[in-house]
Amino acid sequence: MMQFIDLAAQYKHLKNKIDKRIQAVLEHGHYVMGPEVQELEEKLAEYVGVKHVITCANGTDALTLTMMVLDIKPGDAVFCPTFTFFATAEVIAYEGATPIFVDSDEATFNICPADLEKRIQATIVEGKLTPKAIIAVDLFGLPANYPELQKIADKYNLKLVEDAAQGFGGSINGKRAGSFGDIATTSFFPAKPLGCYGDGGAIFTNNDEYAELLKSYRVHGKGKDKYDNVRIGINSRLDTIQAAILLEKLVEFPAELIKRNKVAENYNKTLAKKYKTPSVPSGYVSSWAQYTVLSDNRDAEMMKYKEQGVPTMIYYGTCMHQQTAFRYLACQRLTFPIAEMLASNVFSLPIHGYIEL
Ligand SMILES: *Cc1c(COP(=O)(O)O)cnc(C)c1O
Repeated sequence: MMQFIDLAAQYKHLKNKIDKRIQAVLEHGHYVMGPEVQELEEKLAEYVGVKHVITCANGTDALTLTMMVLDIKPGDAVFCPTFTFFATAEVIAYEGATPIFVDSDEATFNICPADLEKRIQATIVEGKLTPKAIIAVDLFGLPANYPELQKIADKYNLKLVEDAAQGFGGSINGKRAGSFGDIATTSFFPAKPLGCYGDGGAIFTNNDEYAELLKSYRVHGKGKDKYDNVRIGINSRLDTIQAAILLEKLVEFPAELIKRNKVAENYNKTLAKKYKTPSVPSGYVSSWAQYTVLSDNRDAEMMKYKEQGVPTMIYYGTCMHQQTAFRYLACQRLTFPIAEMLASNVFSLPIHGYIEL
C-alpha cells in the first residue's frame, strides 16, 4: 500500500550519506551539542536568510522558548489561528497567558488578517488582557500573509511570531519561511517538510539580544556556562546525531521541494473539478507539508481512496476553540465560521519528495 509520507524511500535515497554522518558522530563522541549542531545552525541560517539560528529539542519547545524570550505571562493576550495544530496555542497557555483564537482565510486556510484585527480591537475594548503577540502559522506549508500581519503587528505594537513548523522551504517573493516577524520557529519532526529521525526544532531571528537569550534559556538559563545560572530556563537541545542527519537532508531539500511542487501541480490538475484544491497566492511558494482539499462529501471520498490503497488524513478535524483543553476559555461557538467549515470538510492526500509521477 502507498505511504502517506514515505520516509523509508527518502532514507534509501540518502542512506550512504546519512549512515556516514551518523557514524562520524558515534566515533567523535560529542553526542550533545557536538560540532554538527553548530554546522547545521550555520547552514540553516544561510538557507533561510537570517542572522541567528538556535536549534532545540522540538518545534513545541521552539515556540515555548520564544514565549519566554518575549516575556509572555499571565494577563497577556496572544493571538493565533484556531485552525492549527494544538502546540501553537498550547505554548501560550503553558506560560499562563491567554490564547485569543482567530478565524481562517477561506482561500489560504491561514490566519485571517481582517478577523485578527477585529479580535485585537475587541480585546483592547474589553480591557482585561494586555495584547502582546501574534503567532501566525504557515499551515500545510503555505506562508501566512506576513505583509498584512506585519502591518497589524506594527499598528498595535505587537510582536509577530512565525510558526513555520510546516512551512520550512516556503517563501513570499523569494523571502523564505523562517525569516518573517520578530522570531520564527520550526519543527524537524519526521513528517515535516524537513524532518530528522526523532524530535528536533529550531528558532530563527535577526535580533542579537533574542539570540543570546535563546541560547541561555535552552540550557537552564545559563550565564557564562551551564553551572552559572542567571535565569530560569529549560533543557532543550538538538541531539548531535539528529543534526548530522539534517545536514544531509538539507542538501537534498531543494530537489525534494521541486518534486513536492510537481506532485501538487499534478493533484491540482486532476482534482480541481472534484474538490476545492489549495490556492497559493501569486508570489508565494508552499513547501506542501500537506496537500489538503475541501469536499462536502469527505467521508465518502476518503473511503474511495482507501479502497484504491491510497491513504488520506484529516488535518484538522477539531479547531482550538473546540478542544476540551481550552474549554476554560469559554470561547463562543459559531464565531469561527470559516475554521469550522474547514474542520468539517478538509482532508489531505499523500505528498512527499519520493512519489512516483
Ligand atoms: C508540528 C507542529 C508543531 C510542533 O512541533 P513538534 O516538533 O511536534 O513539537 C507546532 N506547530 C505546528 C503548526 C506544527 O505543525
